[in-house]
Amino acid sequence: MERRNFLRNSGAFFTSLILAGCGGGSSDSPISGTPTPGPTSQPTTPLATTGRVIVIGGGMAGASIAKYLRLWGRTIDVTLVDKSAVYTSNILSSLVLTGQRSLASLEYSYNTLRSTYGVNFVNDEVVAIDAGATEVALSSGTRLKADRIVLAPGIDFDAVPGLTDGNIMPHAWKAGPQTTLLAQQLAAMPAGGTVVLTIPPAPYRCPPGPYERACLVADWLRVNKPGSKLLILDANPGILVEKENFELAFRQLYGGIIEYYSSVSIDSVDQTMRVLNTNGGAVRADVINLIPRQKAPAIVSRMGLANDPTGRFASVNVLDYSSTAAPNIHIIGDSSATTQPKAGHIANQEAKICADAIIRSLNGLSPDSQPITTSACFSTITMTQASWLHAMFEYNAGTRSMQSIPAAFGASAGWNTENFKDMNTWFESLMSDTFA
Ligand SMILES: Cc1cc2nc3c(=O)[nH]c(=O)nc-3n(C[C@H](O)[C@H](O)[C@H](O)COP(=O)(O)OP(=O)(O)OC[C@H]3O[C@@H](n4cnc5c(N)ncnc54)[C@H](O)[C@@H]3O)c2cc1C
Repeated sequence: MERRNFLRNSGAFFTSLILAGCGGGSSDSPISGTPTPGPTSQPTTPLATTGRVIVIGGGMAGASIAKYLRLWGRTIDVTLVDKSAVYTSNILSSLVLTGQRSLASLEYSYNTLRSTYGVNFVNDEVVAIDAGATEVALSSGTRLKADRIVLAPGIDFDAVPGLTDGNIMPHAWKAGPQTTLLAQQLAAMPAGGTVVLTIPPAPYRCPPGPYERACLVADWLRVNKPGSKLLILDANPGILVEKENFELAFRQLYGGIIEYYSSVSIDSVDQTMRVLNTNGGAVRADVINLIPRQKAPAIVSRMGLANDPTGRFASVNVLDYSSTAAPNIHIIGDSSATTQPKAGHIANQEAKICADAIIRSLNGLSPDSQPITTSACFSTITMTQASWLHAMFEYNAGTRSMQSIPAAFGASAGWNTENFKDMNTWFESLMSDTFA
């Protein structure tokens, strides 16, 4: 573990944490190579715990909590249900569009969770939850019963009027077949063509993600499709994160390629003509990466758990991630509504806080009252260079929310190739903390 950057920039207060990536104020990257931090108060003495937990969704949040419930809870019976037999990482999936990564290189199996940690993995879809009976129904007809249920199903998308075939304007915002399809559409586009990338209103999964994808695709277009344009239609009033870096990149590196427009809503589409009908008029393009507005999946909303003020995501108590509508159900990752970004790193952190709280609760104890989470993020500014951002959050008892710690916030000034290498190290570390 290299803690130099972190120690230099964040002070001694956080030195007890094992960090995946952090730092601030310089262009040194928040290098990693170690597991991501757990809650500050993960059980220090083994707790004699019995109990059954069902985890719905084996992505960044669900796989992490299944592993850590077994690691820290020892005798807890953990069943992880996912509709896919293999997880495909969204993180780094934009590199598939430029041919720098294969989808296969982003796949993670559940074998180690099963063999090393004793997680029961069930490859099925949860179609219903009985909160009262703490029971779930699978599409195969099987019913599973537990003491606690953890929901970690990620996100779903709003329907877009006129778009009946999502493959015509792929979002590629869940890594998988649509990622491959978008890569193929870009490759087939003639030089001098027009690509559109739409950004939905916040909150959405991975706040810097669309901007970094735009940079990456623009760099690829520069080399492979000379004369092409990339129009970014952002529903938000401006660039949401790393504004200085992205603005600079759009202007300095991609001045002749990227055109950025803010406050653009997509009202409907004409999929046959490849046209977007926006509040500013019709826009036609050769390739359209349409990322719709996001919400928690139906398995969350059907139960009345998507109860944040927008009615899209699940309100939770961030001390234990229990639903504010059904206290014996916990909701972690992108489905939950918290003040933290919807990110894989944060999903992994929430999982650890929640695992700790469930173990304590099964032992009749209260959750840790001062949880801390951390989030590191690297953004690809070119096909070989990256920038980075780091934030930490601590519980604020007054607002009952996770609040960003200003002294721990850091972002790179600019971008470089070292950061790009560190991004891969950080990624390997995070994925191994989650799946290995
Ligand atoms: C292009 C892109 C780049 C990104 N880059 C970064 C980055 O650099 N850093 C970062 O921290 N984050 C990044 N993210 C965000 C990150 O991928 C998500 O925040 C993270 O995956 C959320 O984890 P999750 O567990 O909530 O959801 P997911 O990882 O999506 O997992 C949800 C799982 O639930 C399963 N599931 C859903 N419903 C059911 C059901 N009913 N029954 C059974 N299984 C079900 C799904 O199959 C899936 O495996 C990026 C995202 C994208 C799209």
